[in-house]
Amino acid sequence: MSLERQNEDTLLQNKLDKIKQTYLVLSGKGGVGKSTVAVNLALSLSLKGLRTGILDVDIHGPSVPKLLGITQLKVGVHEEEIIPIEVYGKIKVVSMGLLLSGNEQAVIWRGPLKANVIRQFIQNVAWGELDALVVDCPPGTGDEPLSIAQILGKKANAIIVTTPQLVATIDVEKCITFCRQLELPIAGIIENMSGFICPHCGKEVDIFSSGGGQNLARAYGVPFLGSIPLDPDIVKSGDAETPYVYFYSKSKTAQRFDEIVELIIKSESLKEYNKEDQGVIPSASATNEKTVDKDYNNLKEKGDGFMRFAVPTYQGKLCAHFGHCEAFAIIDTDGEGRILKEVFETPPPHEPGILPRWLSEKGVNCVIAGGMGSRAQQLFAQQGVKVITGAQGEYPKEIVEQYLKGTLQTGANTCDH
Ligand code: ADP
Repeated sequence: MSLERQNEDTLLQNKLDKIKQTYLVLSGKGGVGKSTVAVNLALSLSLKGLRTGILDVDIHGPSVPKLLGITQLKVGVHEEEIIPIEVYGKIKVVSMGLLLSGNEQAVIWRGPLKANVIRQFIQNVAWGELDALVVDCPPGTGDEPLSIAQILGKKANAIIVTTPQLVATIDVEKCITFCRQLELPIAGIIENMSGFICPHCGKEVDIFSSGGGQNLARAYGVPFLGSIPLDPDIVKSGDAETPYVYFYSKSKTAQRFDEIVELIIKSESLKEYNKEDQGVIPSASATNEKTVDKDYNNLKEKGDGFMRFAVPTYQGKLCAHFGHCEAFAIIDTDGEGRILKEVFETPPPHEPGILPRWLSEKGVNCVIAGGMGSRAQQLFAQQGVKVITGAQGEYPKEIVEQYLKGTLQTGANTCDH
């Protein structure tokens, strides 16, 4: 190996050593929302406090700069290194679209030249220390995903984006085969444009029979990360070049991105991150998960009257929507109405019937919610779990204490559709 090549390899390795994980966002076909998902995942990771970068390796049609509203900017160069553009807090961005002098300039690189430029996107960019680098690949399984997967080596994980219509097609299968052949671990599948959020009532309507992504994931034995609804505000934000999760951070769809990111943070792929930086993730409650079940029997044995409550929350306070909350406060109390402990747990991605099963498996005896659909109430009743709806108040501990004292204010079930 020539000395020059050796130096280049060392340079690349030094860069990779500072990046904890990378996620190649892939799709079988164009138009499934891959770039939209990649940008919003990267932003959600960054909003959670992870040091995040996004690399757009779509050399012929980069769309990340447009989605982030930075098409007018160009990356800088310092001491032969590209300096990524930092936007929306701290997210670092590199794209061919930020290097070219005009968007209209045709890029005609092929094969080896393309691989070389992709290598430089890692090797010659001042990424610094990153927890996660999201890579937006062009659709399909061509040169770019292959090159970047090879360059990233062990640090590479794939996230496959599909839509309900394309889920059972050869294109998606090809994507999975591509990952398998490269021994590229699949962090999970995301079903985009799954269901429709009605702009008038905000209700989710299942127009293309969603759920195929989950079946696909099951069939191939890979994780299902969640689904993103078809949301007119995503189109609006794309057209306005304003990244969706940043500007619609309180919306149901943004919450879906958040839930997916929670799963990614908890996943095998970020195991290292979880081990080292547990305290950094603001709302991640994964670290508490095991202690609940470990302690359950001990606490239960402490005497009669032990109760385990679950309260749906958003940012630590009671959330009106049971099925779409951010986390559940799981609160244990003794027979004298004292709180023994409180932990927050992130629920699995929303799917009919999943929460009653999940909560009863955790040994919850009583759920106190603002609103809950009648189906969920029925399922809880079948599992022998008591349900209080219409609860008013803010902090879960106070709500449980009031319930036990008989002073909890309740009103109408706020979400009985
Ligand atoms: P790809 O990268 O797969 O080619 P894009 O991310 O460019 O796809 O998205 C294609 C179009 O679909 C864009 O107009 C985008 O705004 C829209 N889109 C993507 N995801 C959604 C969604 N969940 N709801 C509504 N429109 C979406």
